[in-house]
Amino acid sequence: MFSVSRAARSLNVIAGRPQVSLLNTRLAASVFPTGIRYTHRSSGDTVTVRARREQRLNEDPEKLMVQPVLDRAAQEMFFTEIVRTMWLVLEQMFKPPYTIMYPNEKGPISPRFRGEHALRRYPTGEERCIACKLCEAICPAQAITIEAEPREDGSRRTTRYDIDMTKCIYCGFCQEACPVDAIVESQNFEFTTETREELLYNKEKLLANGDKWEAELARNLKADHLYR
Ligand code: SF4
Ligand code: SF4
Repeated sequence: MFSVSRAARSLNVIAGRPQVSLLNTRLAASVFPTGIRYTHRSSGDTVTVRARREQRLNEDPEKLMVQPVLDRAAQEMFFTEIVRTMWLVLEQMFKPPYTIMYPNEKGPISPRFRGEHALRRYPTGEERCIACKLCEAICPAQAITIEAEPREDGSRRTTRYDIDMTKCIYCGFCQEACPVDAIVESQNFEFTTETREELLYNKEKLLANGDKWEAELARNLKADHLYR
């Protein structure tokens, strides 16, 4: 079958119109042996594209007949196509590969990456979260649920901190709103589950994530502190 896009690539566009814009518009194409006529479906405007071969024949028919034969003969005598191909293969052999062997190899991840959530503690082991509920208020997906009450020592702490990860859109607003860097998004993106219930995170799960990745989380926050 005659492909319009292939034909258009091998043809010259008259009046200096670029080929890409022609192909990106809503055009109907009529293909003739000597060229293609494009018609804009809504306006009815037409543009004619002549075949390169026909144009060149009109300009210099003798040159057109002789030059390709000489080129072809030179290529076949000196094996230039084979040599060029072998050089290309050789060049690629010494370049680093573009692919990585995931999951054994992983690409670099930005310190700002917004992955699985975690609740952080102070080095003393005390929870950072002061139950101000700013994260709950700002969450556009209403994924966070917090309940809090004062402790005996007068400090205010959460008694419940849930995140419905199936609602979360990973916007990072909770992390931005938190005045004590308690709720953060880690660089972990591998937390797929088999059931929906496993994605309903509670405070214990979030604190456990924070304990597991504290060094990495602190490093990421430090790397990004100039921009916050
Ligand atoms: S990342 Fe956005 S959507 Fe997810 S819990 Fe935080 S504020 Fe809500
Ligand atoms: S995580 Fe931060 S923003 Fe959310 S309630 Fe705790 S202290 Fe406030």
